[in-house]
Amino acid sequence: GEWSLSDKNVYDWSSEDEEPDGRARPVQVLLVKDDHTFELNEAALSRILLSEKVREREVVAISVAGAFRKGKSFLMDFMLRYMYNHASEDWLGDANEPLTGFSWRGGSERETTGIQIWSEVFLVDKPDGRKVAVLLMDTQGTFDSQSTLRDSATVFALSTMISSMQVYNISQNIQEDDLQHLQLFTEYGRLAMEETFLKPFQSMIFLVRDWSFPYEFPYGQEGGMKFLEKRLKISENQHEELQNVRKHIHSCFTNISCFLMPHPGLKVATNPNFDGRLREIDVEFTNNLKVLVPWLLSPRNIDVKEINGSKITCRGLVEYFKAYIKIYQG
Ligand code: GDP
Ligand code: MG
Repeated sequence: GEWSLSDKNVYDWSSEDEEPDGRARPVQVLLVKDDHTFELNEAALSRILLSEKVREREVVAISVAGAFRKGKSFLMDFMLRYMYNHASEDWLGDANEPLTGFSWRGGSERETTGIQIWSEVFLVDKPDGRKVAVLLMDTQGTFDSQSTLRDSATVFALSTMISSMQVYNISQNIQEDDLQHLQLFTEYGRLAMEETFLKPFQSMIFLVRDWSFPYEFPYGQEGGMKFLEKRLKISENQHEELQNVRKHIHSCFTNISCFLMPHPGLKVATNPNFDGRLREIDVEFTNNLKVLVPWLLSPRNIDVKEINGSKITCRGLVEYFKAYIKIYQG
């Protein structure tokens, strides 16, 4: 069911916790409340990650993060399709099938800041024969004022700390303030972690939506890498601040990459009755989706979550989640 805030600003977890029809759905596990405190839904987190099927499995945790209304949930629903269709050739499915999963919608009204996870954790066989558990997380922030920037930083930091791959969903371009936000967010994360000689985080993917300069840098991963190299380049005549942001980002992640996505077309962006069917999405977008999603999620490409060089199971992830959130609760 829909979540609700009572007038006392208390989140009603109980409606989230029930699974009346047993169907998988998004579950809010972390919520930033109006008074800027954080609440972890430990019961739901445990129910999902400590279920017998997955708890001893090494976990691949995929997070998509960024501001509201930039197509994150829309993308995640395609990721779900890929998972449910077992990475088959025609995973994208029927042209007239509405898109379901994480709720995505138009409009511009306020939404929750926090983390949602998909209640079904997928078991996937890696090519080397290992079976791993794949967790999908949808992370949201507001980025629009000083007070919410701090909330967003914490949410972004937490999701980066507990994921093996963070997809940073941004609109149109990589602007200097996108990089500054990333620096702030990862600095928040790094402060909360033990210091080691290893880089604190694993993979960071800059996912640029509505890319409109394909003649300069083509859509996809190769164009993205060239574009990113240019954006993250450090040169001596740059202002020190610009150099520092770039050094910081390089020092935080083991892998950094970028994918440039085309605009999905006006029906997706503006039609309130659009239900996600492929028929109404620009073919350039779906063609790139066919590359992007397997690139992110194919059994050979997914990496198990590691903390300080050790692989983490679903059970371990719950412990880290609880420990990290304590730090931010102060
Ligand atoms: P979220 O808040 O980031 O999860 O955004 P949603 O997935 O809910 O999408 C918000 C709106 O943007 C919806 O109306 C979508 O149809 C639309 N949308 C989805 N993907 C894209 C995209 O790549 N570009 C544009 N311009 N709009 C998109
Ligand atoms: Mg969303």
